[in-house]
Amino acid sequence: MAAPKTFSIRTFGCQMNEHDSERLAGLLVADGLVRAPDDEVADVVVLNTCTIRENADLKLYSALGHLKALKEQRPDMQIAVGGCMAQKDRGAIQQRANWVDVVFGTHNLAAAPLLLRRARSEGPLTEVLDAPDPEANRDMAPALYAVRESPFAAWITIQTGCDNTCAYCIVPSVRGQEISRPMQDVIDEATMLASSGVVELTVLGQNVNSYGRDITKRGPLFADLLRALGEVPGVERIRFTSPHPKDLRPETIAAMAETKAVCPQLHLPLQHGANRVLAAMRRGYSVERYLERLASAREAIFDLAVTTDLIVGFPGETEPEFEELLEAVSVAQFDSAYTFIFSAREGTRAALMTEQFVGEDVIKDRFERLKQVLDRSALLKHEARVGLLEEVLVEGPSRRNPMMLSGRTRQGKLIHFALASDVRAGSLVQVRVRHGAPYHLLGEIESVVRPPRHKVRIPLLSS
Ligand code: SF4
Repeated sequence: MAAPKTFSIRTFGCQMNEHDSERLAGLLVADGLVRAPDDEVADVVVLNTCTIRENADLKLYSALGHLKALKEQRPDMQIAVGGCMAQKDRGAIQQRANWVDVVFGTHNLAAAPLLLRRARSEGPLTEVLDAPDPEANRDMAPALYAVRESPFAAWITIQTGCDNTCAYCIVPSVRGQEISRPMQDVIDEATMLASSGVVELTVLGQNVNSYGRDITKRGPLFADLLRALGEVPGVERIRFTSPHPKDLRPETIAAMAETKAVCPQLHLPLQHGANRVLAAMRRGYSVERYLERLASAREAIFDLAVTTDLIVGFPGETEPEFEELLEAVSVAQFDSAYTFIFSAREGTRAALMTEQFVGEDVIKDRFERLKQVLDRSALLKHEARVGLLEEVLVEGPSRRNPMMLSGRTRQGKLIHFALASDVRAGSLVQVRVRHGAPYHLLGEIESVVRPPRHKVRIPLLSS
């Protein structure tokens, strides 16, 4: 009997894409393929692409260049391109790289295995849907059979697409309008995951706190969903990304505060601190409104850690407006932030604001000044944890020092601590914080709360 074909998936971009790759792996395994150790030996290589930043194109075509050489050595090898870049560029990808066998979009991920089989007899294929097929999107199977990276922490997609129209963002045009999955499907998936030992769920959506707005007229159901997920036996930790500040409602804050499993961590993208820029970005809130909501969340939720996204160099940004951004950041005192340099994406409103583009040197200088302010508040936040006892979900050997373990606190902070014989990935432990650095904490284990719940044993380094 012929050996099963092997596959490898390379993922670019956000957690949505990471989880899509898990679902795609599940579909390929269900189609009889097995995972290859890497692209170099795989019979099928899938690139799951992102298009959020300008350099996304460069990343894709340099990866395809490398795969071209591999395919010249192994002509039977198949190359597929999926994800947001495929959704945007469609057939143009095969015109530019005619060694690509299959191109599929964000709305028909489930079609990938069949397209790969058809391409073996029909030749190169491009199949990209203009809009999500609600039934396909509400289909549970891909999530159920997803090949997940972690046995104790899992992503759950609750919604695809976005109804907002932020001027710099390409997502609505490649992911479509918001489609929420039926709440019972999400609960069933969470129950299935928890029964296999998953203790931490990260709820995914482009705009999670408008979840359910397309299901019922009575408005978003996100608060209800958080409470319902908190009832699922075995679920100890719930995180979510990404909420939109304009949709952060009092009932969501109350659900976060009153649902034990919901972690005291809120990622709330501010993007900028000047109201004229926020309006030009079409964000739909003022900085005062943002800070008000942030204050009410901090008041209601004990020990809340807040992170954010910020863009520097949006077209027309003046020095005084940049200083307003610095001011807002120092008032908000974020635990950390993802900072981006504005990138003009073809097909967005902001890409047409060419006459207002800010000079590269100016942007670089502002980016450095912003990072200094953010690093200072992050360090202060971390130093304030010294002496505290943190509940930590162990992720495994530390990447920076294999003689240490690392894990995440309930606030989502990365912490490293010395190896312990009875502790491994998936264990829940209490760690005393001994040192706060800008991007991580250091600590000492004080006790083991419980061993891992999942069945799979992750081998530890022999002491
Ligand atoms: S909320 Fe704005 S930035 Fe976020 S995905 Fe939607 S359009 Fe893009």
